[in-house]
Amino acid sequence: MGRTGRARLRKKRTINANITKEDTFSALQQQLGMLGWRNAYALTARNFPSTGRGICSKTQNFCAGDRLISLPLKCLVTICTLEESSHFKSQFDTKKFHKDLKIPFQALLALYVLHEQHLEEASHINAYIKSIPKQFSTPYFCTIAELQRLPEEILEKTVAQNRVIRESYACLKNIFHNNKCCYCGKQYFDDIYTLTAYKWAYFAVNTRSVYVLSRQIKPEKCFFQTILTDEPNMALAPFLDLFNHSSDVQTNADLLPIGPNKQLEYVLTLESTKLASAIPPRKQLFISYGTLSNYTLLTEYGFFISHNPDDYFSFSLTDIEEFLKQDKTYSNIMLHRNKFTFIRAHNLHDEMFVHLEDGASHNLCVVLHLLLHEQSIYPNVLNQVAFGSAERLANVEAEIRSLVGYKINSYKRFVHDLEQLTALSESGVVAKGYLEECIRFLNDYLDKAA
Ligand SMILES: [Zn+2]
Repeated sequence: MGRTGRARLRKKRTINANITKEDTFSALQQQLGMLGWRNAYALTARNFPSTGRGICSKTQNFCAGDRLISLPLKCLVTICTLEESSHFKSQFDTKKFHKDLKIPFQALLALYVLHEQHLEEASHINAYIKSIPKQFSTPYFCTIAELQRLPEEILEKTVAQNRVIRESYACLKNIFHNNKCCYCGKQYFDDIYTLTAYKWAYFAVNTRSVYVLSRQIKPEKCFFQTILTDEPNMALAPFLDLFNHSSDVQTNADLLPIGPNKQLEYVLTLESTKLASAIPPRKQLFISYGTLSNYTLLTEYGFFISHNPDDYFSFSLTDIEEFLKQDKTYSNIMLHRNKFTFIRAHNLHDEMFVHLEDGASHNLCVVLHLLLHEQSIYPNVLNQVAFGSAERLANVEAEIRSLVGYKINSYKRFVHDLEQLTALSESGVVAKGYLEECIRFLNDYLDKAA
């Protein structure tokens, strides 16, 4: 096929994709309508330039105190949904349920998504499954070449996520019947619930689930109870999961008894907004996923916010060691092992960060003081210094500035290395943007502290 042919095909494909997307959302709204959702605020999903798809109302204004959505509990995918699915439950071999083969509820929910996806049109949440993005932009899905060009703190997170994914997958495989799908004849774990599919489903749940208090919903007799390591406090919330996050609003979520029958509904309320006036129709409605740093937003949800007011930048003890090693100013300093032991034993290396408004965190100051200004190596003395009055600590602002400068340079190198790759994946693009945002943040910190 010639270039024009390919271009034509591509164009056709985009048009089709758009039609399918719109169909997906009207089918989803229909499906939720059948489960009792009235869409009282005329909400609709559409694409917004800044965020991609999101939610707005076709007719309503919204002010602080207004409800954004009220979705009947029946519309959510919760532990109850899984408990009610006899087909899903029949795939588990209860004889193999064992205390050493336990999984987090998130993993079970991910498998349920794959189960429903395989049922295709026969699934009662078919429209919802189709509305889930085909890929996610968390660093977890970066290519190997991209991962090699990312800082340690991001790698650590993806390694931890990978561990949970692989362990829970192996566990699920173990407690499953070793059988074939009676519709298509394919082997369940080897052909249908592949590890690749499971990774996608795991992040579908990771990026889209909401918190529900399992106490409010869990049936008394719970089939899956014995294989869960945690309470099933998660739920998938169709349509509602299309709300994007903003640090400019505060929202509240609650399961409330609504209407004459006191049916539980998942209610999102706009508590406050930074806008002076009401949010008009057609303008995107945001919710808050919590006060989250860009690092958390990136590694868990696959995006970050430029000038995020909730942002801070964390340092690890390794960062500080590396920084001291390469900076000649500190070449005469004896970094005694006792000090590191003391720092680790008291978790002083947690919560070492800089914040634009609040400056350097207490732990960051204490650790730099202990390593660079404290002569003693005796635990009782270190203890007095670390937990004594803050005035006894030396001013470490200059050291913090050098540390920040060191981190800016190392992040610049990561960005440069990523730019050397001929193409970046969607995850790679977002991760690079995140690094650039960190550089901006750290430069702002230096400007502010100057
Ligand atoms: Zn099948």
